[in-house]
Amino acid sequence: MFQDRKICKRCVMPESKPDIRLNEEGVCNLCLEYEKNKGRQKKQRPPLESDLTALLKKYRTKGEYDCLVMCSGGKDSTAALYFMKKRYKLNPLAFTFDNGFETEEALENARSASEKLGADHLLFKTDKMKKMFADAVKRHPEVVLCHLCSIWYMDLTFRMAERFDIPVIVAGWTRGQSTERAGVAEYRYGKDRREFTGMGEATRRFLKEYTRENPGYRDFPKSIEEVIKKARKRHRTVEISPHWFLPYSEEEYTDLITKELGWKAPENSYPAKSTNCGLNFLSVYNSMKHYGYTHYHVEMSKMIRAGLMTRDEALESLAINFDKELLNFWAAKLGHRFEEI
Ligand SMILES: [Zn+2]
Repeated sequence: MFQDRKICKRCVMPESKPDIRLNEEGVCNLCLEYEKNKGRQKKQRPPLESDLTALLKKYRTKGEYDCLVMCSGGKDSTAALYFMKKRYKLNPLAFTFDNGFETEEALENARSASEKLGADHLLFKTDKMKKMFADAVKRHPEVVLCHLCSIWYMDLTFRMAERFDIPVIVAGWTRGQSTERAGVAEYRYGKDRREFTGMGEATRRFLKEYTRENPGYRDFPKSIEEVIKKARKRHRTVEISPHWFLPYSEEEYTDLITKELGWKAPENSYPAKSTNCGLNFLSVYNSMKHYGYTHYHVEMSKMIRAGLMTRDEALESLAINFDKELLNFWAAKLGHRFEEI
């Protein structure tokens, strides 16, 4: 489906000039920078479970809910909900956002996990994103749909935390997605990340223009930085993921929620063994076409550098595993069709 690009020998980032370049040995500038910084930094101990319990204690309030768990129904977020309720005996509010394209399998996982755990569950489904996604796919294929969506759902998450006066936001972020406590989403798509320079610029340009031209979207945030800045002024929260602190591997907690909660893996997903909305296939296709990689390549490369994943494992889950039919099945929902694939 895509032309082969030269890929870094250490991670899985392809050459994508000017931001990602390979040297004569076939190693990318991001891996070289990582090596250089690793030597300079003081060795930090990895986060421990006691750090997590200390944080949860520090932010504990007398409110009705102890934490808001962003639960999409995927394995990482379902396990996060499980840990909050079962392991730490907290009262979480599970929050599922449906941009209109979530799969029934994912929604059912979120619903059934909340029910089995006896956690309150809030589902927010909107039709508002559909027009924006459709316009982006048709006219601005360089825009990464996942970025638009994550801006929207982080904004919504902060608003829900404020609405219910909840101090802790919990997500299923893995160590490849982020290891920083605050400003998680900022870290993922922020301006200063070289891997996201091109993608980030495309998102900002699109949102600036789109919100100006479409009055119904005037209040839509222009960037993730704007979302976080405004949220911090309204309500104090800390954003964390149990996966940064707990020693369990992905396989271990997937087994746990499968046995305890009846969690089911989706039939089709990209990357392999993940859960994402149907538009993810479109987003991946356009990202590969325009940049030669997706944000999943960035996350897994980070995990490889940190020794949390092997390069072969990453290459296996990142192999394109969907076809034209599946792509056009989801594109049709936006009134679009990919002709040349
Ligand atoms: Zn590399």
